[in-house]
Amino acid sequence: MNARAHIAAAFDPLHYRTDFPLLARSVHGKPLIYFDNANTAQKPQSVIESVDRFYRETNANVARAMHALGEEATSAYEATRDKLARFINAPAREEVIFTSGTTQSINLVAYSYALPRLQPGDEILVTTMEHHANIVPWQLVCERTGAKLKVAPITQSGELIVDRFIELLTPSVKLAAVTHVSNVLGTINPMRELAKACRTRDIPLLVDGSQAAPHLTIDVQALGCDFYALTGHKLFGPTGTGALWARRELLEAMPPFFGGGEMIKTVTFEKTTFADLPAKFEAGTPNIAGFVGLGAAIDYVNAIGRDRIQTYERELLDYATTAFKSVPGLRLFGEAPHKAAVLAFLIDGVHAHDLAMLLDHEGIAVRSGHHCAHPLMQFYGVPATLRASLAFYNTRDEVDRFIAALTRVRKLLA
Ligand code: PMP
Repeated sequence: MNARAHIAAAFDPLHYRTDFPLLARSVHGKPLIYFDNANTAQKPQSVIESVDRFYRETNANVARAMHALGEEATSAYEATRDKLARFINAPAREEVIFTSGTTQSINLVAYSYALPRLQPGDEILVTTMEHHANIVPWQLVCERTGAKLKVAPITQSGELIVDRFIELLTPSVKLAAVTHVSNVLGTINPMRELAKACRTRDIPLLVDGSQAAPHLTIDVQALGCDFYALTGHKLFGPTGTGALWARRELLEAMPPFFGGGEMIKTVTFEKTTFADLPAKFEAGTPNIAGFVGLGAAIDYVNAIGRDRIQTYERELLDYATTAFKSVPGLRLFGEAPHKAAVLAFLIDGVHAHDLAMLLDHEGIAVRSGHHCAHPLMQFYGVPATLRASLAFYNTRDEVDRFIAALTRVRKLLA
């Protein structure tokens, strides 16, 4: 057995499944098969308990109370900033800005970084495989400034055409925004290479890490990007949590996105001065319990080990890919050699929503639709696909049961 196979053999998903209470429930009288992890991931007991405990024992507002509860709440909340900074290898904790998720993180960059800088004739470079969250905010600031969105193409197998991306990095490009992992295709983009090309041309690069955080080890310094956005709920943490990491000099040069309490130094009716990082970008009362839960989620993932998760998921993806391909008439979208455990597919002559509904009756949760990636659907010439997205708590047995159910229900639709 080689070393990689040995690590995978030692990984027992059934052991981890028991940490996730929801995975034990049934749906329509069948044991749940949860294959919608790219949409949102389930939460381990430790995350649920940490949120519960926070409200039972610690609840107070952060950063403003001169009492014990306020101090405890603040230190629990800020501990997550340290954990997240280590999780993505940020050079400094102050560079980690808490947000409600990737969508807010990207909008923060669009309105605070891009909007004041863009001029008519400027361009923002994205790729065909972006989620709407990494398209629409740029379109909104382009509309206001006269800048344009430019799109780097992908291949039919769902890989970014890197040479074209680099060619498109012309002097008019003022920012590039690329997903680390595609939420539909699973493709893992070669971020270091893209970041290097951007850096040599002095073009800042924003990475949408929404789908990368649950699957990959993230090192923003090694990647060499300028902005990194992520979401907590896909990382086994609570909804309404996320972060933006950015290089300090960029954050210092950016005006605040939201104004309000906590983000100021002094306020008069004539002039307001702003707090230091990260508070400058964190106006108002945040999702305190949520971030405490996100800290527990990071602890949980770290305790398993991201290398082990990655190795196991790769093996599970290979197994699932072979199984999916054995289904007659099944078309897979996204066959990049370097990909995360996401399988988008269609079956000849069967509507995605009809199939998803029948699968639901079998206790199987998959997503069907455009996956917030209309332009990608247009590229493939389909209105929708189904998507099975796996996590480390999914098993080969679930893949087998999924394929059996798929084979059963498609007969009903034939
Ligand atoms: N980008 C990608 C690649 C995503 O998959 C998602 C969530 N589906 C988002 C951005 C948006 O994340 P959120 O809804 O948590 O803000």
